[in-house]
Amino acid sequence: MSSITNHLPTAELQALDAAHHMHPFTTNNELAAKGARIITRAKGIYLTDSDGNEILDAMAGLWCVNLGYGRPEMGKVAARQMDELPFYNTFFMTSHVPAIALAAKLAELAPGDLNHVFFAGSGSEANDTNLRMVRTYWAQKGQPEKSHFISRNNAYHGSTVGAGSLGGMTYMHEQGGLPIPGIHHINQPDWWSEGAESNDRDFGLARAKELEAKILELGADKVAAFIAEPVQGAGGVVVPPATYWPEIQRICKKHDVLLIADEVICGFGRTGNWFGSQTMGITPDIMTIAKGLSSGYAPIGGSIVSDKIAEVINACEFNHGYTYSGHPVCAAVALENLRIMEEESIVEHVRDVAAPALADELTMLNEHPLVGGVNVSGLMASLPLTPHKESRARFAGNKGDVGFICRENCFANNLIMRHVGDRMIISPPLVITPEELKEFGKRAKKALDATYATLK
Ligand code: PLP
Repeated sequence: MSSITNHLPTAELQALDAAHHMHPFTTNNELAAKGARIITRAKGIYLTDSDGNEILDAMAGLWCVNLGYGRPEMGKVAARQMDELPFYNTFFMTSHVPAIALAAKLAELAPGDLNHVFFAGSGSEANDTNLRMVRTYWAQKGQPEKSHFISRNNAYHGSTVGAGSLGGMTYMHEQGGLPIPGIHHINQPDWWSEGAESNDRDFGLARAKELEAKILELGADKVAAFIAEPVQGAGGVVVPPATYWPEIQRICKKHDVLLIADEVICGFGRTGNWFGSQTMGITPDIMTIAKGLSSGYAPIGGSIVSDKIAEVINACEFNHGYTYSGHPVCAAVALENLRIMEEESIVEHVRDVAAPALADELTMLNEHPLVGGVNVSGLMASLPLTPHKESRARFAGNKGDVGFICRENCFANNLIMRHVGDRMIISPPLVITPEELKEFGKRAKKALDATYATLK
């Protein structure tokens, strides 16, 4: 089918898409009226669409194609693994080499005593694992009532019932009866949007102290864990003030509340270290991983768990798992991804080369009258758009209309930047070069100029 449809004209592909394909997080009727942009090939940081346009992907797909597109080694490893062992499960006292090797490699890369991996097919599934594993942990320790989770407003932890509940997106909660009971949300440390007149250090501390207030309100004996991304991604690339994480870590320790770092976006080099937890100087009890684990070449996620938790969970039968937990082809692809990342020093490239080059481009873009500042950590960044830089004012209605217009102008300039409300989001493949970042800056400026012109 795909080789046939590849040769169909764009309009026919769009018609088939509209007739049969329901897209995630999309008003499908609107998409049908407009016609989907159909991506047919990709290489490096560039996508090609069915009309032959070359598009600079400053989002690495969905924050995941860290190695860039079209690495032939990945396909070779997948094909070899499909020949050798395309599938076997890891239930019922069995294992296989790719899952064993990947778990051992992750234990080596992860900081501290995070030495144990429970595999999943995605970040959402991994966060569902965390929910059940943490509750089981406390129950096994004789504290079953220590079952409540605290998360943050506007957090994104996935789309399953559990992960969607852990997340703090109200527009998701409105559909399908979320959140499930026992999950509570506090404010995010978003100084740019919510810090008003305060300085960012005081604001960061105040937002961290909301965690302690919530723990005391619920009772520390009822609170199982706090979950957060080191740097919030889908919430708009919210880089917390420096005061935030040390205080969160202190509060979790003091009240014996487990700390789960959702590393689905931050993990595997995005912030200039292997994990965002290292960039933020925290020691979590569990890390959620997905996306960059395989650079998006194969669907795989997981939870990396501390010795303390594994000791308890491994002593009982944990009745949880997925058919594709540790899928051999996905695990082999992830291992190859990590091998290339190490061989090519990609984390060092982010830290020493690409992040400083991105920072230069962001400084240039921050001079634009529409841009209200820069949020950046390594190779993830956001540029909030504003009608008035000095006061960090929002556009009337705060509905993200200007961000949407800017995203469309990016498309028109063959650039993919996403918008979260009125923030423009940047998260390119980690292999991006300084020259390619210059090209990004040029296209982004054109899109901002075009957006500014429509607002006059
Ligand atoms: N956690 C975070 C921080 C994410 O950004 C995402 C996806 O964007 C998820 C979890 C869910 O991952 P998946 O889409 O693989 O289920």
